[in-house]
Amino acid sequence: MAPRSEFARLVRRAGVVGAGGAGFPSYVKVSSPAETVIVNAAECEPLLQKDQEILAHFAPEVVSGLEAVVAATGASRGVIAIKEKHAELVALLEKAVAGKKALGVHRLGDYYPAGDEFCQVYEVTGRLIPMGGIPLQVGVVVNNVETLYNMARAGSTPVVDTFLTVTGAVKSPCTMRVPVGTSMAEAVALAGGATVKDPVVLDGGAMMGKVAEDFSAPLTKTSGGLIVLPREHPLVRRKSAGRAAFDRAGKSTCDQCTLCTELCPRYLLGYDIQPHKVMRSLLFSAPDRKPWSHWALLCCECRLCSLFACPENLNPGDICGFTKGDLAAQKVNWKSSPLNRGQAPKAHPIRPWRQIPVSQLKSRLGLEDYEAEAPLRQEPYAPALVRIPLKQHVGVPARPVVKTGQAVERGDLIGDLPEDQLGAPVHASISGQVTAVTDFVEITA
Ligand code: SF4
Ligand code: SF4
Repeated sequence: MAPRSEFARLVRRAGVVGAGGAGFPSYVKVSSPAETVIVNAAECEPLLQKDQEILAHFAPEVVSGLEAVVAATGASRGVIAIKEKHAELVALLEKAVAGKKALGVHRLGDYYPAGDEFCQVYEVTGRLIPMGGIPLQVGVVVNNVETLYNMARAGSTPVVDTFLTVTGAVKSPCTMRVPVGTSMAEAVALAGGATVKDPVVLDGGAMMGKVAEDFSAPLTKTSGGLIVLPREHPLVRRKSAGRAAFDRAGKSTCDQCTLCTELCPRYLLGYDIQPHKVMRSLLFSAPDRKPWSHWALLCCECRLCSLFACPENLNPGDICGFTKGDLAAQKVNWKSSPLNRGQAPKAHPIRPWRQIPVSQLKSRLGLEDYEAEAPLRQEPYAPALVRIPLKQHVGVPARPVVKTGQAVERGDLIGDLPEDQLGAPVHASISGQVTAVTDFVEITA
């Protein structure tokens, strides 16, 4: 879909993508009419504080981004959804929206995953997104805090920096803004360096993040947080085990107690997702496995079932994730699933009593010792070299528009794609010389 308004065009040209998830191109979200725009400021991944720090330092920019999206979509209201426990930020935001009739602040409870779009849309509007659907189907657009900050600046500055929290086993946990393409190793060094001998990184957070071993990997527009942990930490061991080990343990140990389903936040909202049935699929070989696999289709991969609910330390959430991938490869989705009978979701009355407080989750994950403030580092960082991936978003990769040896300025376009293709342009995050062009553009200062 090509951008449908001048603002959408600006957002596309600036290369704005969803900074909190897979990197969905933001111009698409501002090109469709909506009734409500939600700013997802829940930030429920334990230890991460990027959104809180952006709001504390740049609330006027985020509010101006929200106003722009409200105007572009013709929405009648814009709501910042933030946890009530952040009392100072709530007060700051209420002040920032005071006198702006269409805008307001919605207080969320401190549970995981309050940031899941489906949960958040229900909390703010009382509406349930149809099974297999998207927020727009109930008139809602959801954007995260950094995305709105980037949209507010789209007219003058393309996305060349990324915000992230670096915490865990580091000397000085902090939140930082660094040029896109800076390495993870440099981000960890900016946080004072690892305090353990054999560190690994959870890229993206404790729940939804992945174990990253290659510290030279570049940070992208969607990077949100690095948690440094010792390799022997139970969470690292658990996340590193891999699919074959998850399948083996699940096949031999799952006793079908159903706790994973009973605590699943999507199940509690009334969606037809039942991870214990997906675990049952492990006992079958294809094609008998298939009917059980379909119970994974509506999973959001929050991993609450794996890392909190299962008394056997099994990994139903990960298995749902792999299963969804298998089904997608076979072109099976909710629309084509026999489970889809056109039924509407209906929230379970017990849901409020089954929400998992983040404090309990932190303790279960063994992260209590790493609880620390992560204030925004004020000094700008200028890396000597960046590697900027040409695909940091959902859709088609950008094609390079620069050559090795070419001089570029920070903000110059280095990768682009036609307007009618889903994707986002990419820009130089530092000034210097292009020293390599492959599936990324390397720039040396
Ligand atoms: S909670 Fe664990 S043991 Fe129980 S059904 Fe789910 S995966 Fe199996
Ligand atoms: S990861 Fe587990 S708890 Fe989360 S939505 Fe999927 S099945 Fe439910």
